Amino acid sequence: MRTASIILFLFCFAALNAQKHTFIDNVNIWDGTSDRIQNNLQVLIADNLILNVGKNITVPEGAVVINGNGFTLIPGLSDAHVHLSANMSEKEARNEAHWMYTSVRTAKAAENFLMLGFTTVRDLGGPVFGIKRAVDEGLIPGPRIYPSGAYISQTSGHGDFRSANEPNVILSGGQMQAADLLGWSYVVDGVPEVLKAARENLRKGATQLKVMAGGGISSDFDPIHSVQFTSEELEAAVQAAADWDTYVAVHIYESKGAIRALNAGVKCLDHGHLLNEETIKLIKEKDAWLVPQAFWNDTPASFWVPGKDTIPEALYKKIKPVLEGTDTVFKLAKKYGINVGFGSDAYGDLGYESYALTEFTSRTKWYAPLEILKQATSENARLLSLSGRINPYSEGKLGVIQVGAYADLLIYEGNPLEDIEVVAHPEKNLKLIMKDGKVYKNEL
Ligand SMILES: [Zn+2]
Repeated sequence: MRTASIILFLFCFAALNAQKHTFIDNVNIWDGTSDRIQNNLQVLIADNLILNVGKNITVPEGAVVINGNGFTLIPGLSDAHVHLSANMSEKEARNEAHWMYTSVRTAKAAENFLMLGFTTVRDLGGPVFGIKRAVDEGLIPGPRIYPSGAYISQTSGHGDFRSANEPNVILSGGQMQAADLLGWSYVVDGVPEVLKAARENLRKGATQLKVMAGGGISSDFDPIHSVQFTSEELEAAVQAAADWDTYVAVHIYESKGAIRALNAGVKCLDHGHLLNEETIKLIKEKDAWLVPQAFWNDTPASFWVPGKDTIPEALYKKIKPVLEGTDTVFKLAKKYGINVGFGSDAYGDLGYESYALTEFTSRTKWYAPLEILKQATSENARLLSLSGRINPYSEGKLGVIQVGAYADLLIYEGNPLEDIEVVAHPEKNLKLIMKDGKVYKNEL
C-alpha cells in the first residue's frame, strides 16, 4: 500500500513537472550583448526559459521543432517609454471615451507592440494595471509590462490635464475627477500628497514611479521651461520608491529641473532634449539613465506644422525647441557614454505603435546598428532591473539569449547588425515572435 502511494506520488510529480520543449534549429544568433553574430546554432527552450544554446544539442522527445532557415535570432525588443492607454487624444481618453472602450483599445495597443517585435515595454503613465494582468495571465496577447500607474504631477504640471473650468481637487474640497480615479494622473502638491500618490501607485502594482519634473508638450498649462516639484517633493517620491526597492523616472526637457531631480535621487530622465553638458556629466556621475526620442525629428514635417489637420500653433511653439535640441543631446550622450535607454514615447492613436520602429532608423544618425540593438535589448533590461525586488519578471534574464534567460526571441530574415532596417520592417522580415516560450507569429 505504502509503495503504491509512493509510486503514485512520483508519477504525479513527474506529470506536474513534464516540461514543454521547443527546439530551434539552424539559426545565426546575436545574443544581445556581444559584438557579432554566431552562425549555425541551436536553441532549446523548456517552457518559458532558454535551457541550452549551442551546437549538437540533444532534442528531447516530444519537442516542437522549428527550422530557423539560417535566419537571424535575436532577443525580443523592449521599449522603455510607452503609454499603452494613451491611444487617443488626451482629452478624448481622459474625458470623453468610456473607460471600457479605452481598455479594449489599450489591449489592442499592447498586441500591436508585441506584433512589432516588442516583447517588453515600460509603461510610463496611464491606466494599465488591468491590461498587464490580462497579458500575464495569457488572456490577451501583449508584451511584458512594467507599469508606472498614474502620472504624479503638481498642479499645473505636465500631468494636470484638467480643462480650463475643471476644479482643483484639493481647492474644491477633495472631489476627485473621474479621470484621476481611473488612474490617468494624480495632481498633488506638497510632501504628504506626493507620498500618498506614490504609495497609491505602488499599492496598485507600479514597478517604478513616473513623476513630471518639468514642462511638457501635450499639456496646456505648463511652459516647457517650467521646473516642477520642489526638491523636497521629489525626494519624497524617491524615498517612497526606494522603500519598495524601486526608482523614479521623470519627464523632463531642460537642465534646471533635471539637475534638481538627479540630486533628489531620480534614476531615469525621460526626454531630456534640452539638457546641457553639465547635466549629462551629472547623469554620468550618478550612473543614472537618459531615455531621449529621436524619431520625432523624422516624422513628416506636416505632422508638426500647425494647420487644420495637424497641430495647434501653441503646441508647435512648444515642440519646436525640443526638436532643435535632439541632435545636441544625442551627441552629448554619446560623448560621455552615459546609460541610454531605448524608448519611443510613440502614442496618440492605434497604429502609432509602429513609430517605435522609426526610432531604430532615426538613431542611426548617432549610433551603429549594434549600439541601437543593445539599447533596445540588454541595456533596457539593465534599466528595467532597477525595479529591484518588485521586478515582476525575475524568473529569467531579459534582453539576452543565454541559458536561463526568458524565451523572448525574434527571428528575422536578414542581418539587423548590418542593416537596422531589417528590424524597422517586421511585416516583411520578422518571421518568428516568441514571448515567454509561446509563439505569437511563425512564418518559418
Ligand atoms: Zn511619455
